[in-house]
Amino acid sequence: APTVLWFRRDLRLADNPALGQAVGEARAAGSDVVGLYVLDPALWASAGPVRQAYLARSLRELDASTGGRLVVRHGDPREVVPALCAEVGARSVHVAASYEPYGRRRDDAVEALLAERDVSLRRTGSPYAVAPGRVRTRGGTRGGTPFQVFTPFRSAWLEHGWRAPAPLPDDVAWATLASDGLPGAPEAGARLPAAGEAAALDRWHAFLADGLADYPTDRDRPDLTGTSYLSPALKWGEIHPRTLLADLASAVRSGSVPEDSAATYRSELAWREFHADVLFHHPGAVRRSLRTVVPEDAWATGATEDALLAAWCEGRTGYPMVDAGMRQLLGTGWMHNRVRMLVASFLVKDLHVRWQRGAEHFMAHLVDGDVSQNQLNWQWVAGTGRDAAPYFRIFNPVTQGLTFDPDGAYVREWVPELRGITGKAVHEPWKIAGAAPGYPERVVDHAVERKVSLADFERGRR
Ligand code: FAD
Repeated sequence: APTVLWFRRDLRLADNPALGQAVGEARAAGSDVVGLYVLDPALWASAGPVRQAYLARSLRELDASTGGRLVVRHGDPREVVPALCAEVGARSVHVAASYEPYGRRRDDAVEALLAERDVSLRRTGSPYAVAPGRVRTRGGTRGGTPFQVFTPFRSAWLEHGWRAPAPLPDDVAWATLASDGLPGAPEAGARLPAAGEAAALDRWHAFLADGLADYPTDRDRPDLTGTSYLSPALKWGEIHPRTLLADLASAVRSGSVPEDSAATYRSELAWREFHADVLFHHPGAVRRSLRTVVPEDAWATGATEDALLAAWCEGRTGYPMVDAGMRQLLGTGWMHNRVRMLVASFLVKDLHVRWQRGAEHFMAHLVDGDVSQNQLNWQWVAGTGRDAAPYFRIFNPVTQGLTFDPDGAYVREWVPELRGITGKAVHEPWKIAGAAPGYPERVVDHAVERKVSLADFERGRR
């Protein structure tokens, strides 16, 4: 009987241990592997047009790398997966384990339904170098507890280590089976990066050769191409972090990359693993703050909240760096990390809108939108997460612009109304009368709102 490899957010063949398992089992049985993707309407609907478009392209690439044998079935996996196993007589379904609340519930349900038919769901690997829940403090009667703070988590994560990348199985015998067909790519309305495993590897190799050495200094500069732009590929599993970590180690060994650059990059990957770990232990963090820092009455409500949120979403707050970021998001489905932190701080601490509303807008538009990374980064900025930024750390939108976009090139790229202003003066257009026709007035005064937020925080502490 064939075995089934059910792809979810691991849309690649290289370094895919679940694929290795499926192939090994199929070979032993003298059979082939069904490469399955289930187009789950619940996930598809929540992905929104940007991620739908990217996913559709990524699936097309995956299909091509299986010689056009990817079997796409549309429907609820709880029905589709058991039905497919019955159709082909499969006894096992191989997956990389899911750790987000929806994926865990889905897999447990599918596992139980398969068990009724004597079919097993086999989990090998995960989208992380170390599976969420594994890295724990040392000692204690129950073998340690989850980490609350990032830095010790990172040390323990580094010490824990990870497996070497899984070898690419040669000559996979993919089964030929009827497919409902690849999803059509909706109009994303944004300029998206090339999707698929080959594009991800190309992007990574180019970054290793040209970007990584300067990463520690350039990564905070939205006006430069200082980061790897791999978040969409990591989100969809077109590349595995284990591959990145192994390549970093060999680049350091060969002397092509300094250790401090590799360490900085490794540390960012560690944040990704930390947030996944926190969400694993606190699935409610998708919606609920992990702690409360300001009183309920601190938040804008009703029409005021709606108007402020709309100005922020559309990039017309009157603060150039914030508006540039929000327009970059709408234009490309991606935003530079430095600017994500700034716009999130601005929404919560200058506009007094709850982080959940901002997180929702991000999830609707980010090509790398990922429930663990998005919700926990928002909680970090809002001061409500585990090891979050302190609430009293309030980003100044002008200073952030002057420091991280020193010539104003990033702002001019995304805010055409400001292109008439040269140099860093673009960060304070209100100082030059008539220089920015059509650019909105500031919706709030940062200096005032900062004080309001600090007072709210004091009240919350009492
Ligand atoms: P690089 O600087 O090249 O970093 C390499 C990789 O490290 C990234 O691809 C990412 O996987 C990881 N990484 C880097 N920074 C972070 C971070 N702060 N937290 C977790 N992992 C990180 N990232 C997402 O992947 N999906 C999201 O939905 C998401 N939402 C965010 C929301 C907010 C409010 C903030 C402040 C950050 C969010 N991030 C999210 C994290 C970060 O902004 C992106 O991962 C990063 O900008 C991706 O660009 P890059 O691949 O060029 O990053």
